[in-house]
Amino acid sequence: MVIRHSLLALSRSDRVKHLVTTMPVSSAVVARYVPGETTESAVEVVQELLGSGRLVTLDFLGEDTVEREHAEATVTAYLEVLAALSEGRLAGSAEVSVKLSAIGQALPGTGEKIALEHARTICHAARNAGTTVTLDMEDHTTVDSTLRVLRELREDFPETGAVLQAYLHRTEDDCRALAGEGSRVRLCKGAYNEPESVAYQSRLDVDLSYVRCLKVLMAGDGYPMVASHDPNMVAIAEALARNHGRSTESFEFQMLYGIRPDEQRRIVDDGYRMRVYVPYGQEWYGYLMRRLAERPANLAFFLRSLVSTT
Ligand SMILES: Cc1cc2nc3c(=O)[nH]c(=O)nc-3n(C[C@H](O)[C@H](O)[C@H](O)COP(=O)(O)OP(=O)(O)OC[C@H]3O[C@@H](n4cnc5c(N)ncnc54)[C@H](O)[C@@H]3O)c2cc1C
Repeated sequence: MVIRHSLLALSRSDRVKHLVTTMPVSSAVVARYVPGETTESAVEVVQELLGSGRLVTLDFLGEDTVEREHAEATVTAYLEVLAALSEGRLAGSAEVSVKLSAIGQALPGTGEKIALEHARTICHAARNAGTTVTLDMEDHTTVDSTLRVLRELREDFPETGAVLQAYLHRTEDDCRALAGEGSRVRLCKGAYNEPESVAYQSRLDVDLSYVRCLKVLMAGDGYPMVASHDPNMVAIAEALARNHGRSTESFEFQMLYGIRPDEQRRIVDDGYRMRVYVPYGQEWYGYLMRRLAERPANLAFFLRSLVSTT
């Protein structure tokens, strides 16, 4: 936990960002978690994953956008990839994940309104393509705003998915509020550097909260999306689904691209739905730093790559 907090804090430094993004080694390290930068490469990975029975959610990388043009370019990228999924007849098994801060939420003043309009445009294109959108959840200061945008979007696009983070004290209540019929909720542990005032700090407390939240979602009428690589959480989700008499079509597992691929295939072989979150694009820095912070072994891997290629 200490390493995780320190690395996440360090990743906010402009100097560290400059160092990491200009290092020649970066590409080898990045490739483990980010399979490509272009729409074409994203579609190729989708085809490959679908070929092995897995489902996909695509994330065009970017966050904390502070220029309106940049936010608009992100919307254009989503429209492009949705058109490509539709053209390739892949949209039935591949949806998109969107960070509101990448499409305007962080713009001063009317950011939330701009993000809502942009999200509507993406939801519309997704529906036309025959797929859905899930709104990623970012740091705790954005949660109320993201849930407001979600509520508005669900008026017209009730299929829009939400993400809730078990490390936040508030999340069990948010799960109760979002466990209704038709509600798609991705439950993850949470990846940001959050203070004690709002978030559980120990691994055990986060895990216990994850299980409490999972119980609420599995007992509800919605569609739980169990996003975790933790074997304990996967086993508990399987048991809860059985206890609640859920069919294998009434919930799904989700994991990140490049993490525990054998377990991803095992879950498919056992007859469950397994969706892989595939990030693509050039703005991989924030995403990579969160992945490195999750596991001290990743840091060693990162440092080893540094040494072997310099
Ligand atoms: C589909 C999906 C979507 C997500 N969306 C969001 C979001 O919108 N907002 C948000 O805050 N977080 C999101 N996350 C990240 C999540 O919050 C966690 O940070 C991350 O999943 C690690 O937690 P874990 O449940 O896998 O458990 P952990 O206890 O962290 O990990 C369990 C095991 O998984 C493996 N593992 C975990 N992380 C890594 C890694 N980086 N590299 C290699 N192995 C690893 C290890 O074997 C580890 O022992 C998402 C995660 C997934 C799977």
